[in-house]
Amino acid sequence: MSHMPDSAIPTRNVDVVVIGAGPAGLMCAAGLRERESADVVLLDREPQPGGLPAQCEHRGFGLWQFKRLMRGVDFAARLIRRAERARVNIQTNTTVLSVSQERETLAVSPDGLVRYRARAVVLATGCRELARSALTVAGSRPAGIFNTGPVQRLHTFMHVAPGREAVIVGSDDMSLMATQSLIGQGVRVRAVLEERPYRLGYMGLEWLLLRSRRIPLLLRHKILQIQGAGRVSGLRVTALDATGAPTGEPFEIPCDTLIFSGEFVPENVLTRQSGLALDPHTLGPRVDQNFQTDVRGIFACGNLIHAADAADHAVQDGAETAAAIARYLNAENAEPLLTQEIIAGQGIHAVVPQLLRRYDSRPLSAHLALRVDHAQAVVRVDARAEKQVWGRSFALVAKPHRSIYLDIAAAHPTQAPLIVSAHGRALVPQEFRQTEWRAPTTS
Ligand SMILES: Cc1cc2nc3c(=O)[nH]c(=O)nc-3n(C[C@H](O)[C@H](O)[C@H](O)COP(=O)(O)OP(=O)(O)OC[C@H]3O[C@@H](n4cnc5c(N)ncnc54)[C@H](O)[C@@H]3O)c2cc1C
Repeated sequence: MSHMPDSAIPTRNVDVVVIGAGPAGLMCAAGLRERESADVVLLDREPQPGGLPAQCEHRGFGLWQFKRLMRGVDFAARLIRRAERARVNIQTNTTVLSVSQERETLAVSPDGLVRYRARAVVLATGCRELARSALTVAGSRPAGIFNTGPVQRLHTFMHVAPGREAVIVGSDDMSLMATQSLIGQGVRVRAVLEERPYRLGYMGLEWLLLRSRRIPLLLRHKILQIQGAGRVSGLRVTALDATGAPTGEPFEIPCDTLIFSGEFVPENVLTRQSGLALDPHTLGPRVDQNFQTDVRGIFACGNLIHAADAADHAVQDGAETAAAIARYLNAENAEPLLTQEIIAGQGIHAVVPQLLRRYDSRPLSAHLALRVDHAQAVVRVDARAEKQVWGRSFALVAKPHRSIYLDIAAAHPTQAPLIVSAHGRALVPQEFRQTEWRAPTTS
């Protein structure tokens, strides 16, 4: 990794190292300074703090935390101001290379290598977008194919439009939000395609961003071929039947830009490298109700443990992690009296946290983020241990790519696993009005 002898790397002792200055890391670092006046260093590889929201000009942030719909850049600026007021030591342009189970963090910046020895380390490295959905489409690979993240970055930092006429593949909130940035740059959005029979994002966003602008949302449609030499010139598209097989006559959509809303996976390079236990469903580190991983003193929060939820949830995670670390710093050597697994039962694909650790016999409460295993409506969720109900919640609609939440309270310590289940009506395509593709009247 480096040719510098180990002993020559400058070493700094701090209370807490937070890796990742996105909403989760900023809030965690600020919370720790405000609560404990702990010695906290916040590291980020980007030239500016703020994480993903700092790269987004569109208005889609902060409704829950700040009670108003904000641009990503303003949302990030607000969190940065709070961390600066709390005098958090923020080091940008600093990439963390490794974290050891002894809580040693090795980081590199233009000033060279630094080793931090800390009482606690927080991984808040967020998630990244996979290009897998793009790779499975037939046809050549001309210029003009993007993921949503780079399109937002081009817009925010370079004021550059990716093209003139775009088709978006994927109907999650981030894809729908991308139409806002594209239209703001004078790009014509021809259509949004979705292979599933239902839209992933919020219905309100479809009305606000697509229907009001007559942008067709083509459910159960997929690309057969990307056309164009040098630059994308169009797409050959087919409708799909209930089994997912192509049906009807394929048609063409002319465009010069194709945007795939990627799948989001935790940015867990450091998690893997440091040997932390991973959850096979979230692909992020396993954590308990205090955001502590399987290694004492190493914590994880934000999109790293549930990719990719709204930024408001990352802020809440950060605040709760700060509170948990404050408790940890005051009782570093406390051993858990009891450990209890949380298990995804019927209708549930993933649960965060994955375990509860009890340090005393006081009643315990926790906030669970859940992913269902199929799209459902009118969903009743419960958590049970030994037939006792520890919490219930309800969701009008639940879809696998976005968390729903459940608060639990447990008076009696037990080692019996806590089983979380969801029971709802499977979402059927007839519930959604299908938009037909009409060839554009202007070229
Ligand atoms: C295109 C797009 C649009 C979105 N739109 C919305 C929206 O409208 N509303 C909304 O609420 N949410 C939106 N989101 C989701 C939102 O951005 C996330 O919920 C939020 O950013 C998660 O915060 P985080 O702190 O967990 O991670 P991030 O914001 O991803 O921050 C992680 C930070 O860790 C740093 N990092 C990673 N690895 C290292 C390392 N090894 N060394 C140093 N630093 C490292 C990264 O540089 C980054 O700054 C959008 C996401 C995308 C991709």
